[in-house]
Order: sequence, then structure tokens, then C-alpha cells
Amino acid sequence: MYFKNILVPYDESEHAKSALHIALGLAGPYPEAKVHVMTVIPSSSLPDPTLMANALETPYAMPDPESYERIMRSVAENACTDAQRLIDETRDDAQCQVVADAVIATSPVEGIADYVRSHDIDLVVMGRRGLGALRGMIGSVSFGVLRSVDVPVLTVK
Ligand code: ATP
Ligand code: MG
Repeated sequence: MYFKNILVPYDESEHAKSALHIALGLAGPYPEAKVHVMTVIPSSSLPDPTLMANALETPYAMPDPESYERIMRSVAENACTDAQRLIDETRDDAQCQVVADAVIATSPVEGIADYVRSHDIDLVVMGRRGLGALRGMIGSVSFGVLRSVDVPVLTVK
């Protein structure tokens, strides 16, 4: 049996890159399998709409929704471009499909858990640590994902 939709949550850390190697090892021989390399952009990391309105010098309390939407889209597109670069460097002769994706969510755990449900993910392969890797134990995102999804989670050092 093989996994059809593998999610690799990607935060640009070395651990997440190792996770992609493992996922490609698992899915590589199967053209029907798909690996999703997905970055969550926490909405708290996006510019505050009110501050943005000041910067844009609009007379409103908020910038027009289209400007805000455009900025959010470009942040997500940049994350996809970074993930796509990693995919191109890493995929070698893997037969499976590999796609880059990015979502905006209130937190990485929330974004990953929603993605698992909405994309029929049957395995998550993720780093045990991420960009904040100095402390010991398991990272807060991997811990949260382990608790909040019902599919198997493989954590990678
Ligand atoms: P902490 O964030 O608690 O300091 P940490 O950064 O060492 O700990 P985590 O944040 O749990 O560890 O990261 C573990 C894995 O979670 C990463 O290797 C990556 O696979 C995934 N991950 C973390 N943040 C994101 C994110 N914003 N988008 C997608 N995946 C992420
Ligand atoms: Mg982290």
C-alpha cells in the first residue's frame, strides 16, 4: 500500500527539507501519488490592515479589500516560489507529482490541520523541529499537529 496524498509542511528549515526527502522516498515510485509541499503564513505575520491604510494614505480605516487581497496573494505566491525552488532541487527522478502550495491561517497548526482535511491527505511528513530549533524536545507546531490530525504523522530530525 502506498500513500496517495502526502503533506510536507514547509517552513524553510533544514528539518522540513529532510522531511521532503523522506516523502519523495516514499511516494517517488508511484506516478499516482502526490506530495504537497505547503507553507502556512500566519495571518498575524501579515501587515496590519489599519497600519497599511495609513501607509497607503487612504481616507478609510482599512485599505480597500482588493489591495489587501493583492498583498496577501503576493506573500503566498512568494512562499510557493520558494517551495517550488526546493522541489526542483530535490525531486531527482521521482515519478510522483509534487506541488507547491501556501495558505494563510490563524496559526501553522490550524493551517496544516485544515489542509489535511481539505486535500484528502493520508500522511504528514514533517520536521520534528523548525526554524526555532535551539531548544530541546519537539517543536510546538509538530506537537500541535500530532494532537490535531487523525492521519499518521512521521516526524523527521
Ligand atoms: P517552535 O516553533 O516551538 O520554536 P520549532 O520551530 O523548532 O519549535 P516547529 O515549529 O514545531 O519546531 O516546526 C516543526 C516542523 O513544523 C517544521 O520542520 C515544518 O515541517 C513544520 N512547520 C513549522 N512552521 C510551519 C509553517 N509556518 N508552515 C508550514 N510548516 C511549518
Ligand atoms: Mg517553529
